[in-house]
Amino acid sequence: MDAYDGRFLKKLFSKIVLGPNGCWEIHNKVSHPPKDNWRPRACYKRMSMNAARIVAHIFHKLELDSKQQYACHYCDNAFCVNPDHLYVGSPSDNVNDAIRRGRLVYRRKTSGEYY
Ligand SMILES: [Zn+2]
Repeated sequence: MDAYDGRFLKKLFSKIVLGPNGCWEIHNKVSHPPKDNWRPRACYKRMSMNAARIVAHIFHKLELDSKQQYACHYCDNAFCVNPDHLYVGSPSDNVNDAIRRGRLVYRRKTSGEYY
């Protein structure tokens, strides 16, 4: 991590809202939860990109120009930029994640019926 990365993280992490399970969430300024599939973005080295991807680059050596490397979340929280919750995954990991997330959403929707 160089000085630029240090400054970048300081600025990014100053916007964090603590979420469930120790997640560090970046919220949409306009509305939260945001509409559609909004993802937090940040400007890094004059490029605007997914904030989680930049954090994975700094902490987990994700190659920013690689189309084979995705910033995946252990926590399934797309707004989370906690480096401990991120890992570098392949496109197939990303698909598996999406499937797992779909199941999680389903579980959450039905979890209110246990009364
Ligand atoms: Zn998280």
